[in-house]
Amino acid sequence: MSFIVEGNGEQQVELLLNELLGTSEFGSWIDGELVTGKGDDIELINPATGQTFLIYRDAGKDIVADAAAAAINAQKLWWSMTASVRGQLMWKCGMKIREAAESLARLECISAGKPIRDCRVEVAKVAEMFEYYAGWCDKIMGQVIPVPTTHLNYTRHEPYGVVTQITPWNAPIFTGGWQIAPAICAGNAVLLKPSELTPLSSTVLVKILEQAGIPRGLVNVINGLGHTTGTAAIANPATKKVVFVGSPQTGALIASAAAQRVIPCVLELGGKSANIIFPDADLDRAVVGAQAAVFSAAGQSCVSGARLLVHRNVYQEVVDRVASAASRLPVGLPWQEGTMVGPINNQKQFNHVHSLVSDSIAEGAIVAAGGKPSEIFGGENGYFYQPTVLANVKNNMRVAQEEIFGPVVSVISFDDEEEAVALANDSRFGLAGAVWTADVGRAHRMAAQVNAGTFWVNSYKAINVMSPFGGFGESGYGRSSGYEGLLEYTQTKSVWVETAKDSAIQFGYSIQ
Ligand code: NAD
Repeated sequence: MSFIVEGNGEQQVELLLNELLGTSEFGSWIDGELVTGKGDDIELINPATGQTFLIYRDAGKDIVADAAAAAINAQKLWWSMTASVRGQLMWKCGMKIREAAESLARLECISAGKPIRDCRVEVAKVAEMFEYYAGWCDKIMGQVIPVPTTHLNYTRHEPYGVVTQITPWNAPIFTGGWQIAPAICAGNAVLLKPSELTPLSSTVLVKILEQAGIPRGLVNVINGLGHTTGTAAIANPATKKVVFVGSPQTGALIASAAAQRVIPCVLELGGKSANIIFPDADLDRAVVGAQAAVFSAAGQSCVSGARLLVHRNVYQEVVDRVASAASRLPVGLPWQEGTMVGPINNQKQFNHVHSLVSDSIAEGAIVAAGGKPSEIFGGENGYFYQPTVLANVKNNMRVAQEEIFGPVVSVISFDDEEEAVALANDSRFGLAGAVWTADVGRAHRMAAQVNAGTFWVNSYKAINVMSPFGGFGESGYGRSSGYEGLLEYTQTKSVWVETAKDSAIQFGYSIQ
């Protein structure tokens, strides 16, 4: 399965774009066609080499307007189809994604810098998303409400029409599929604005959906910058809801732009999740879980277990074991089969990770493993960072309070259950959390008390399209995935039908 990437990956990307998109030109995907942007040039940089491999142009306002017009038309067509036909077409999307899976994974691997093994898993999950929501298309049912009058009152879950989705760079195709599938399942059209840093796989995905029979224009990918193209999409009158996945800072801006237009938002934001180990836990499993929680995707995961809270009695043992494992993890070029930790996606993020680590050391943290950039043969200018374990961290340090989004775990000690809960909840975020314990009662007590949208017991990072996902606190609001995620893409209409013979009676007026 291994594939060769030469230099900065430019040639390989060109081949993959030709295969998947039918052209190696790049721009926005509007109404079933590739359209060159009208704004500034945007450079795509290979995270493993630090070199530019493609330049495209920011879409801008006019292209957003074209996309909105196409979406309005396509949504009418889509909504006029029967629910079962829509479901069949969505099922075919899953099949087409599986057929193109290896090429999609390779494109994602080079352009986002994610290890190929992770990209394969993520692409398979995108296929699952379409398969799962294919089944929902003809099961979106309202209710008949037994109102105390002569009316038949029932509800309908109707689509918003056109929704704008704005996504980040850390899991581009996964996040795109995660939001497109429920949106179109509910009958909406989509304007998708992926991160300007990682637009390739989302764009190609939409071409594949069209090959499966999804009408052109139903999903449009507007590629460009947030403050130009993203802003234009939210401001466009066609947009009736915004679903945003990204940082809390941008989320706040987006919610305020949506509020100006009185349209609703879903915000899936960052996290600083607590992964809590009690002394009665199966430590072998907990140590593996602690690594998976923070080193997979090089820590660039919203649910990353970046705060490892460990009971004082096993603190040193856990620090030593996680540090020893961290220093042996294969960091490397993302397209090498054995790589488990790839580069950080971009220079700005890389600098942020290093700055938080350096600050923590100045504040008294002890580096048990890593703590500096990683030198990789063939990736000398890439953004590689050593899997890092910081011991002696206090929860009020910057490294324990700010999202780091890198392969760095801060290990914090606690003395009892109450303190563990207090530390876990001493965060502005509330995306996820976990506990490792053999005590069933304690497991449920922790699950009930930790402020988090997702909580794992003796596990970490188990997520599935069937289960709702979202944040508490500054990790956002609204839910993605599962039935709750589907309902976010619908609005409820209550229909009242008079069934009485003399329907005018209730108004108190008489027929003249
Ligand atoms: P970001 O907020 O910088 O950018 C996200 C998207 O918003 C990009 O597409 C960007 O172009 C766009 N954007 C920026 N400014 C905008 C504006 N003014 N108007 C409209 N759009 C704008 O986030 P990022 O750095 O790309 O991603 C990392 C963040 O994403 C982290 O905080 C991470 O936790 C979060 N994230 C959350 C989840 C989740 O489900 N909760 C999942 C993945 C990532």
